[in-house]
Amino acid sequence: MGKVLMIGAGGVATVAAFKIAQNADVFTDFMIASRTKSKCDRIVEAIGNPNIKTAQVDADDVEQLKALFNDYKPELVINLALPYQDLTIMEACLACGCSYLDTANYEPKDEAHFEYSWQWAYKKRFEEAGLTAILGCGFDPGVTSIFTAYAAKHHFDEIQYLDIVDCNAGNHHKAFATNFNPEINIREITQKGLYWEDGKWVETAPLEIHKPLTYPEVGPKESYLLHHEEIESLVKNYPTIKRARFWMTFGQQYLTYLDCIQNLGMSRIDEITYEAPLADNPSEKVKVKIVPLQFLKAVLPNPQDLGENYDGQTSIGCRIRGIKDGKEQTYYVYNNCSHEAAYKETGMQGVSYTTGVPAMIGAMMFFKGLWRKPGVWNVEEFDPDPFMEQLNKQGLPWHELFNVDIEL
Ligand code: NDP
Repeated sequence: MGKVLMIGAGGVATVAAFKIAQNADVFTDFMIASRTKSKCDRIVEAIGNPNIKTAQVDADDVEQLKALFNDYKPELVINLALPYQDLTIMEACLACGCSYLDTANYEPKDEAHFEYSWQWAYKKRFEEAGLTAILGCGFDPGVTSIFTAYAAKHHFDEIQYLDIVDCNAGNHHKAFATNFNPEINIREITQKGLYWEDGKWVETAPLEIHKPLTYPEVGPKESYLLHHEEIESLVKNYPTIKRARFWMTFGQQYLTYLDCIQNLGMSRIDEITYEAPLADNPSEKVKVKIVPLQFLKAVLPNPQDLGENYDGQTSIGCRIRGIKDGKEQTYYVYNNCSHEAAYKETGMQGVSYTTGVPAMIGAMMFFKGLWRKPGVWNVEEFDPDPFMEQLNKQGLPWHELFNVDIEL
């Protein structure tokens, strides 16, 4: 018996909904709630299962969330809205006795800054309430953290060097588009880089460090060092790590557009005053506050609409160097995901697919009682084995390479 409420109705939520519906033996009751109810209804229509319930909720408002949770009484709430809503949803879960799962750590709206401290601060309250909170259960964070846990459990006595490598070798045939929520994506990429070395954080200018890395079935792609949230919890949970870094590929065209967006001030997240025509009397002007990046999101392609013309694949994995039985060894574990196959199954592209599938598997782990312990946890703190087994069954098969040149 698994009664689950999912919040959000975007690309990632659509994939998770398809996968939840495919695993009806685990998820017996399912509701999708989001800011715009019609988007939830469209997902239900696409899946073709009228038993899935839908509702409208503003997840910035704890009281609205509490009313919904008290009415539907889910055992688990899957947060696939935006990182801004993590804390309000966690608060409502505590008030209503629901467990919690998300795919991205909390970010304040007015500060492009993400770290786990805000959510880790809830640990004692979840413990005392006997509720489980599972943080960062997408692909990265998520599968990459579970890949690391699996490597630590089976292949290393000591992990010393960890490089998470994220390549999107797909082509959506648009001049410029982001693969998930544009506002969140651009905030992430335009930040300073950060990595962990010899017990401390090292900061870089945005996209300062880059080099070509070779990805399986893809070939060499220029890869850029970024700050990524899973590094923060992995170095805490695996203190033998001497260096941990995160790399992501970008094409030159993408970077040129990004540069222009920044130079034009369109990536700003502070409010500016704009004189706009009144909706019912366009000749009259009214001063409104807008955030340039939010305005940009409104004119960019919707990531949910990219799937139809997307070809190529993603290749994301962990390259690890460490010690096993007194000898140094290297290990590369990765998944390649085809955008076309993802679209055929769910109507969404590969980046939504690689995030939505792990979110469903994490929820499945919870309902099967395998990942259930009071407190707030990052995914590497649970047993990776049953999750790894499900990745192979649910559309994200993984591969291992031992003692190959991991280039790093
Ligand atoms: P979308 O922008 O496509 O979807 C977000 C959804 O949340 C929309 O349906 C939106 O509603 C809804 N929403 C936003 N604000 C509220 C609110 N206040 N109350 C209720 N609903 C709200 O995003 P994605 O699907 O691309 O991404 C979803 C999440 O997944 C994000 O947190 C993102 O950071 C994370 N992610 C994680 C990855 C990983 O590997 N770990 C990779 C990719 C994404 P509306 O449409 O009405 O605005």
